[in-house]
Amino acid sequence: MYFVETRGNDGIKPIEASFSHAILNPSASFGGLYVPKSLPKLEDNFIQNHINKSYKELAYNILKAFEIDIDEEEINKALALYDNFDDASNPCPVVKVKNDLFVHEQYHGPTRAFKDMALQPFGSILSSIAKKRGEKYLILAATSGDTGPAALNTFKNKENIQVACLYPDGGTSDVQRLQMVCEDGDNLKVLGIHGNFDDAQSALKDLLASQSFKKELENDGIKLSAANSVNFGRIIFQIIYHFWSYIQLLKQKEITFGEKIYLVVPSGNFGNVLGAFYAQEMGVPIEKLLVASNENNILTEWINTGIYDIREKDLKLTKSPAMDILKSSNIERVIYSLYGAKRTKEFFNDLNEKKIFTMSEEETKKLQKYFSAINSNDNYGSKIIKNFLDDGYLMDPHTATCLKAYENLKKKDLKTVIYSTAEWTKFSPTVLNALHENNANISDKDALDTISKEYDAKLPKSIKELFSAKINHNLIINKEDIETEIVKFIRG
Ligand SMILES: *Cc1c(COP(=O)(O)O)cnc(C)c1O
Repeated sequence: MYFVETRGNDGIKPIEASFSHAILNPSASFGGLYVPKSLPKLEDNFIQNHINKSYKELAYNILKAFEIDIDEEEINKALALYDNFDDASNPCPVVKVKNDLFVHEQYHGPTRAFKDMALQPFGSILSSIAKKRGEKYLILAATSGDTGPAALNTFKNKENIQVACLYPDGGTSDVQRLQMVCEDGDNLKVLGIHGNFDDAQSALKDLLASQSFKKELENDGIKLSAANSVNFGRIIFQIIYHFWSYIQLLKQKEITFGEKIYLVVPSGNFGNVLGAFYAQEMGVPIEKLLVASNENNILTEWINTGIYDIREKDLKLTKSPAMDILKSSNIERVIYSLYGAKRTKEFFNDLNEKKIFTMSEEETKKLQKYFSAINSNDNYGSKIIKNFLDDGYLMDPHTATCLKAYENLKKKDLKTVIYSTAEWTKFSPTVLNALHENNANISDKDALDTISKEYDAKLPKSIKELFSAKINHNLIINKEDIETEIVKFIRG
């Protein structure tokens, strides 16, 4: 299976790239992204044949259908990492909460957010192909709180890979910060930045544009790659679990084969729901993909109007920070699938130059065949968290945004799976304030203790241990000092 570029080819990069090329060098011509040339055609009965198979078998067979250029042994080694999830046979359980409402819990991995679903196996595969080629890679990550911990966890002590992770000091939860600064590995560097997530991200962009930094990397024989969802190596693992949603409902005898379902995905960079779009194209019977946004409603606006307009928009800080976004990278892959490379290039040139692109009425209608979207706010989320716990189900603020879509966007009486992208333990002060209907200033540790006592909720060992763990990274620096620190780190 070959990969092509969303904005066409510049005559320098390969016209068709292998999977390993696309994941080692994820930036494509004209600032575009890599996408599969076509999606694999699965055998008849593929879904029914997996009802009694494990998650790893399903994953293996989907990867195999993509014909990726990765050795069988390496694939198996990568998939074995799902054995470290809470339940090795069912790493992402689909739980019934009401008659027609199910929650797909994506947070049972080591860092308690859905990023582990893809980053765990992806880290193993990236390191193995870098090693095989005898190349060294630096991964630069700016995080608002979930990607950082998941990337550090997957790459720690991996060969031929170094990771430098920037987080906004004071801009993450205590749990997220501790997950990063306590992570131990000679190949990891974690830097707190004075400023917010935007500052961390723009500092990273400056660094990537810096000539002296480029020279330093060249001298040391280090190449750059990426671990965010612009990398198709993450997306491929984010297709699998949407098949799992459908298969679990079949297995639980909630649906019969062919019956359509709704999926509701809390979205930011659009990588999670992009995986669902591909799963649908590959044959999962999905009625529609319902996209949930928070007060940063850019995705909702785009899907409802066909216009992506960030001219007058500022990023708002919300209680569902992983969805705080203005420029969402993975909409580009959907646009490519629906309208081709020429239109994709036009839209993204417009977005870069004028901060707006406008689709035709026909194009918008086509988009709306696949997606509906709605946004909510923090007050709404708090009410949902409280209502659901009253019925015995504890959820995090990102998951809570899904209920607005569930209540408003369903047009048919079909079973619905909402995606729970983080465990409540990563956002416990927000959850406790929702339960107590106040806005108290409370530490993560106190909120975790209170909720686990008052509501008899289980704390995973990895979260409990954080508060007595050794801190291995304690640098908090200004933007101007990032390059010096990272150069020091890569020189060892
Ligand atoms: C990353 C993340 C999201 C957003 O996922 P995208 O793939 O970027 O749309 C939502 N919720 C949580 C908890 C996340 O960590």
